[in-house]
Amino acid sequence: MRVEENIDLSNFLSFSNEVVAKEVYFVSSVAELQSVLNQVDDPIILGGGSNMLFTNSNVQRTVVKIEILGIEILVKEENYDLIAVGAGENWHNFVLWSIENNYSGLENLSLIPGTVGAAPIQNIGAYGVELKDVLHSVEAYDRESKSLKTFHVSECEMAYRESMFKTKHKGRFVITDIVLKLQKANHSYNTSYGAIEEFLEKKGEKDYSAKSISEAVIAIRSSKLPDPKQLGNAGSFFKNPIIRKSTYQDLLRSFPNMPSYNVDDHLVKIPAAWLIDQCGWRGKRVGETGCYIGQALVIVNYGKATGEEIFTHAMNVKSSVLNKFGIEIIPEVNIFQ
Ligand SMILES: Cc1cc2nc3c(=O)[nH]c(=O)nc-3n(C[C@H](O)[C@H](O)[C@H](O)COP(=O)(O)OP(=O)(O)OC[C@H]3O[C@@H](n4cnc5c(N)ncnc54)[C@H](O)[C@@H]3O)c2cc1C
Repeated sequence: MRVEENIDLSNFLSFSNEVVAKEVYFVSSVAELQSVLNQVDDPIILGGGSNMLFTNSNVQRTVVKIEILGIEILVKEENYDLIAVGAGENWHNFVLWSIENNYSGLENLSLIPGTVGAAPIQNIGAYGVELKDVLHSVEAYDRESKSLKTFHVSECEMAYRESMFKTKHKGRFVITDIVLKLQKANHSYNTSYGAIEEFLEKKGEKDYSAKSISEAVIAIRSSKLPDPKQLGNAGSFFKNPIIRKSTYQDLLRSFPNMPSYNVDDHLVKIPAAWLIDQCGWRGKRVGETGCYIGQALVIVNYGKATGEEIFTHAMNVKSSVLNKFGIEIIPEVNIFQ
């Protein structure tokens, strides 16, 4: 197992801010992971670093980078297969693999950065699909009982950008692999969200396939979101807040254009980007950080921002939304202080 000391993490983080870690273990098997976790008390688990912000430029905790690879078809049924994927596999590469192998289910989740093992942590989602829709189970190492456990998706408490791995069991489980249930016949597609249908119609595509939908998602995402390789960012910095319908009705009196999406009979979701935009942050640069011009929800590093600067900016954005609308927006990004 490779171990490096005093290593610059900026190349492993999509924010690309300078962070020096005391030591990083690169683990490529469950046995290696077990051995490190038996020695280290309070590790920081690193996947692709696309949803993390270190506010301190010196990390004194041990970092464990998950590089467990492998794709295995476990069960073959008439219409679907169960496929196990190592936590260290690149998510988007796995989506492409699934499409090349004639599976459907993951096409709407194309181009989400990061690793397979981090996908259940916040139940990744995009274009009307969430991981939980295709997840069968999660295999994880329990740091408390020092043993491997398997959780069926129904036990993972998955919700909008949330799971028990991010809430009540934060930091306890290290995901080693996940099992997905992917369709191989009787495919059905979800094209109703965002501009997917419009994009496919413009291209003259009538018979949708996982491949054509994935290509549409890739094109739409690339036109909207900054590429972290060009401009450091971690995607949406905040979750879209969910508020009561009665509160929303009250807010409409002062802000008649406030958009919302129905969650259930009592709750609505408000686009955080709209709230941030209304506070005047979109495109506003503050030193080396700011809110992206094309999407206010994305906080960017123009090059030399420190983690602390990015965090301070995010907290200023959060305060101004609270002051103007009385709505608290919660970071989606995992903050390490
Ligand atoms: C440009 C851009 C666009 C994005 N778009 C979306 C989007 O559309 N939808 C969406 O949901 N997300 C999106 N994200 C966020 C991000 O891609 C996802 O959250 C992704 O799952 C993070 O994967 P990662 O491997 O980079 O995780 P990391 O950033 O490395 O880690 C994230 C968290 O998970 C923990 N973790 C990582 N791996 C493991 C493991 N194996 N076991 C236990 N804990 C672990 C870490 O400790 C950390 O708390 C976007 C990010 C960027 C930069």
